[in-house]
Amino acid sequence: MLSEIMKKSRKIVIKIGSQILSNEDGTINHNFIEQLCKQVSFLIKEGKQIVIVTSGAMIAGISRTNKWSRKEDMNYKQALCAIGQVELMAAYSSHFSDHDIYIGQLLLTREDFYDEIRTLNMRNTLFTLVDEGIIPIINENDTVSVEQIKIGDNDTLSAYSASLWNADLLILLSDIDGVYDKNPKHHRDAKLLEKIEDIDSLSEEIEIGEANSFGTGGIATKIEAAKIVNNYGIPMILANGKIEDILLKLYNNETRATIFLASEK
Ligand code: ADP
Repeated sequence: MLSEIMKKSRKIVIKIGSQILSNEDGTINHNFIEQLCKQVSFLIKEGKQIVIVTSGAMIAGISRTNKWSRKEDMNYKQALCAIGQVELMAAYSSHFSDHDIYIGQLLLTREDFYDEIRTLNMRNTLFTLVDEGIIPIINENDTVSVEQIKIGDNDTLSAYSASLWNADLLILLSDIDGVYDKNPKHHRDAKLLEKIEDIDSLSEEIEIGEANSFGTGGIATKIEAAKIVNNYGIPMILANGKIEDILLKLYNNETRATIFLASEK
């Protein structure tokens, strides 16, 4: 099923969670980015078009400056994101260039998705970049996004982006194999739900535990993201980015994950 959906999808949005972009000690995981770029390059050779939505700017900022990690003030967090965003893009740029692939950066806010002219511009930029073989890398524009106007988590941002671009598939890479009936980090007997068709009753069936320390959304926003894209007829896969070559394994049906299937319209 996973492989079948991956193979028939041409336009794929991949969201990279903050957990898989960071090492245990809080530094940025270059090995993961290197591996990701290799896998994306393979998918492009298979005829796919890829858009990436990436978290991790704050971790990259802390990793770079080695300070302010405990500051709670918004302006310091935004400053860390501003520093980290550059680091993050430099890492993507350098690893993608090993495969002769260029990247383009799009920093977006909630307001952008509610404004007709802005959405038109965003769509045009996305389509042009992809048509020219360049990989758009999207993140929230933290500098202008104060709490009240923030999308707030990249799960939702990736769902908006997938809808805007008319993607065929959204893949969220987190640090868990998918949605479980309870938080797998705290319950060893948690069971993985591999296929979700009735998303509306899901929240009543499972226990929604906390997100990780750098995670902003947790499982709740991943389910919300699935709702958004399923509504547009786009399926979503939640898979474990900590598994080596996860995208290739999904492609070859060699791993487990959760798939949210959009009902046929
Ligand atoms: P990311 O940074 O990848 O977006 P988050 O920390 O925001 O990751 O969300 C993923 C985390 O959600 C998992 O690592 C897990 O600890 C937690 N979680 C809570 N409840 C569940 C559940 N029912 N199924 C799966 N994960 C859950």
